[in-house]
Amino acid sequence: MTSTKFKLSSEDWLLQERGFHPHKQGMYESLFTLGNGYLGQRGSLEENPKGSYRGTYIAGIFDKSEGFAPEIVKVPGWTDLSVWIGEEKFNFETCKIISHGRTLDMRKGVLHRKTRFKDSQGRILKVEISRLVFAHQVHGAVLDISITPENFSEELKIVSGLNGDVFNKGYFQGERVRHLSLVSMKRERDYIYLEAETRDNKIKIATASSIIFNNHPTHFIKVNRLYGEKLSEEIIFDAEKKKTYNFTKWVSVYTSREGYERQLMSTTIDTLRSLMHQGLDYHLGRHIEAREHEWERADIEIKGDTKAQKGIRFNLYHLIICKPHHDPTVSIAAKFLTGEGYKGHVFWDTELFILPFYIHTFSREARDLAMYRYYTLKGAIENARKLGYRGAKYAWESADSGIETTPSYSYLPDGTEFKIFTSDEEHHIVSDVVYALFKYYDSTEDNEFMYKYGAEIVFQTAKFWLSRVEKRRDRYEIRKVIGPDEFHEHADNNAFTNYLVMWHFSKAVELYKKMQKEAPIVLKKVSKRIRLKKAEIERMKVISKTIYFPFDQRTNLIEQFEGYFTLEDYIIEKMDKHGLPEFPEGVDEKRLSRTQLIKQADVVLLLNLFPDLFPPEVKKKNYEYYEARTMHKSSLSPCIYAMMGLEVGGHKKAYNYFMKTSYLDLFDAHRNTAAGIHAAATGGAWMTVVHGFAGMRVRRGILSFDPWLPERWQGLNYRTEWKNNVLSVRITHRDLVLKVISSHSRKSIDIHVQGKTLKLHPDEELRVELKKKY
Ligand code: BGC
Repeated sequence: MTSTKFKLSSEDWLLQERGFHPHKQGMYESLFTLGNGYLGQRGSLEENPKGSYRGTYIAGIFDKSEGFAPEIVKVPGWTDLSVWIGEEKFNFETCKIISHGRTLDMRKGVLHRKTRFKDSQGRILKVEISRLVFAHQVHGAVLDISITPENFSEELKIVSGLNGDVFNKGYFQGERVRHLSLVSMKRERDYIYLEAETRDNKIKIATASSIIFNNHPTHFIKVNRLYGEKLSEEIIFDAEKKKTYNFTKWVSVYTSREGYERQLMSTTIDTLRSLMHQGLDYHLGRHIEAREHEWERADIEIKGDTKAQKGIRFNLYHLIICKPHHDPTVSIAAKFLTGEGYKGHVFWDTELFILPFYIHTFSREARDLAMYRYYTLKGAIENARKLGYRGAKYAWESADSGIETTPSYSYLPDGTEFKIFTSDEEHHIVSDVVYALFKYYDSTEDNEFMYKYGAEIVFQTAKFWLSRVEKRRDRYEIRKVIGPDEFHEHADNNAFTNYLVMWHFSKAVELYKKMQKEAPIVLKKVSKRIRLKKAEIERMKVISKTIYFPFDQRTNLIEQFEGYFTLEDYIIEKMDKHGLPEFPEGVDEKRLSRTQLIKQADVVLLLNLFPDLFPPEVKKKNYEYYEARTMHKSSLSPCIYAMMGLEVGGHKKAYNYFMKTSYLDLFDAHRNTAAGIHAAATGGAWMTVVHGFAGMRVRRGILSFDPWLPERWQGLNYRTEWKNNVLSVRITHRDLVLKVISSHSRKSIDIHVQGKTLKLHPDEELRVELKKKY
């Protein structure tokens, strides 16, 4: 399928599509997305067949226009390419598709395709394309194209385009939203250039492209044409039967967000020229090298289970290609840059599900992700003010400014309109962000970040809760919220939220005290800037001790919220073909709030976030109770039950939950992969392996391991960052081997393995025999 320069990696790194399935295009486009954190390119076919939903997205480019809220903008496309004979195009609608296949080489980050078309005259044309979005140069991309007329000689025309005629899907069925106005188009002998700008903020997006005919015959014609908002380079030549013609389409993309306002055009064109000058071999080499470095840090090797191995690699692939390493003012959206689902908005998914991977794999980028919440603090302050509170309230759905972007209404499949309350009530996001900051801090000891930026977030959000809690009788309560489970709105005293707020207050107090000692000047400055008073810190201390937590000591059950146990009780009995629960008989979407059925892990998530703060019998009891009532209608849910299952003896189930998480998009289990990859599930798959199977957790400030491997796994290997060290972790059923791969301080590290405290020295390998758990 590929030429020698694109040698494929071994099978366990490949994701394949065999045959052309018009109705599955959307799914494959999401799965086959290429990217580098800056640019996300859906894996749409170059000819844009009917039913395809192509999309190119750039991190941080949002626009509202006539839409309901700012959304990630579909920017001009650069993948367009087609082959013509006269007025006839070789396309998927009119030709017979003799064969078609695509392979995503996840290790190298290259998407290969090969299609053999047969047109109405019986002419067979083979098209082979390898596509790359560069990892080493975020502004560059390339297509390597080979065309072979298998049984005819004829004049062929290759049309390679830049497409400015792009719309977003819009929020309502059938709606299209236009976010761009055309600024300029340029046709030169050696390139085409298209510049557009967003309608609201006038962010300019420039794309330049050039197609080169590598092994051209002595005579060929090249013309550049303009069709409305599309530009194309067209190459016409006499093609000979059985001969393969090779082309390279080079692309460069910049925006004015990167500060190239004045020199946008020249920077884009200069980059294009330099890419072309340096050539494909050079850039392919650099790209693969960059990907290798990333995989060296991020890969997880699962021995003895090829299915699990491929599953985890797929999830890691998407986490890697979306790593925003260029810009601390952007974050990761619920669908990465792989589609327009959730409008490119950022949720708590990033902090609780995705960030753990970055903290332990790419800690510098984890810091950037945390900085996004610092840069959007102003928006969060505005959100709190609008709701009538003080301090800062992070948006349930956040875009570029941090201002709330959640839609107010949505529709059930039968067309019934319903109001969305998440922005008004799903307030746990505020403390989820703070929880993640401390996770980052525990693992990196990055005082500079915490004191200079993190503290302001911690205190401003704690101020929000000070104004949000209510004193009733002798206790503090938080009323009218939505917990992680979104089936139940307007709930009072959601256990998850209340516990997190209690913890948040105690962390704010602890940080304040620490800064009084270690960074009094910075603390003074921060306190002055945000008008933080000592009396507020005192109040936080009091509330953290008296906030209500709905726990029944008799039964050991935590009540998800006040009154939850009085709701109609249904137990899940039937599963669908993906092993996901079906609604019990008599229950439909409109009645859910009256039942104890829940959308996703809520109490169990709380237990998972604080594994040391609840005794084993409480964990077991609540896991069993809620597992029987969790519908897993969110991709954030199965991984939590996997990890908690491993703590309470649900080992077999844990493996199944892990596979459900890592294959969620590969099987299109939620039937919406076309709208983008479920980013939280990819992080959830990583967490299940590392926090779950390897049992790697930070317990009382110490890196701890308590592994349990599924029977068929012969070994589990990965690397992890811990306090400026990189460690390699190798686990089998018998032992755990740790080694320091790189270390800044060269100090030995305290490690816990199954309860024993050990020292890991920089130059030695630490091998520990494991006790059999089950
Ligand atoms: C889930 C939320 C999640 C959102 C974005 C919703 O279906 O209930 O917890 O944040 O999807 O992934």
